[in-house]
Amino acid sequence: MVGCGVRVRFWEDDWSRGGVLKEVFPRLFNLSRKQNHNISSFTGSDGFPLSWDFGFRRNLNELEIAEAARLLDLLEGVRLITSRLDKRRWKLDPSGLFSCHSLCSHIQNSGEGEIFSPYTQIWKAKIPPKVKIFVWQAVLGKLNTGDTLQRRYPYLCLSPHWCALCNKAGETVDHLLLHCPFSLKLWETLLKEVNTVWVIPEGCFELFSIRFDALGRGKKAKFLWGSLMQAVVWNLCLERNRRIFEDYKGVGVVELWDRVKFWAALWASTSLAFKDVPYPTIMRNLLAVVS
Ligand SMILES: [Zn+2]
Repeated sequence: MVGCGVRVRFWEDDWSRGGVLKEVFPRLFNLSRKQNHNISSFTGSDGFPLSWDFGFRRNLNELEIAEAARLLDLLEGVRLITSRLDKRRWKLDPSGLFSCHSLCSHIQNSGEGEIFSPYTQIWKAKIPPKVKIFVWQAVLGKLNTGDTLQRRYPYLCLSPHWCALCNKAGETVDHLLLHCPFSLKLWETLLKEVNTVWVIPEGCFELFSIRFDALGRGKKAKFLWGSLMQAVVWNLCLERNRRIFEDYKGVGVVELWDRVKFWAALWASTSLAFKDVPYPTIMRNLLAVVS
């Protein structure tokens, strides 16, 4: 909301009813000497109507004059109020204040939520919120793995800079959770247990974008498969952290697979679909409990 026009940039900010002016009038924007300047530096006085000085580098040709006329039309009702500061206003809420609720309903109503396909697989799984949030960050590539830390703090040399699970390759999110030989073995163990084969996905985003449904399409099958996938990711990361930050040598794939099964069965057993099935039963019969 424009008040005195000191904190809002004329060309670059979204303040006029016509949209961002540098996008609506790119030709005039390129000709202006006043790029990155605030609105008040474009007006001679704060009277009404305002007189505008766009600071063009040369005289305008016919086409540009027509564009400038359109720009002046757009600016016709604008007035600056010197006693009032410019303010940010959140357009999606009538109060003008940001709220998660308004953003969520905007995304849902505009259908943009559907485009990001890992959404349902992660958030609808019956697992603890901290695991969901962690997996969500992994899918977005936002974990603090070696590559990210080195990029963020280039003056620090991370040592050792390789993946703690295989002690060979550099550590990225996709390597750690998917392509590392150690992680791959864990994924393969899971797929072998449920009698399935797969083509290794390109990254974590693809892994959670594909509706794999390895256990079937029933409610129980989906819950258990969701828990298993996220338990693999979660346990790989716990293993990695313990190897780095604790005095701990690490376990092999077999033991880690037992932990994955334990957590996945425990999470799944808390859902309504598995109401009468205790978690040790789920753990022992992954395929039988969903059939
Ligand atoms: Zn590795």
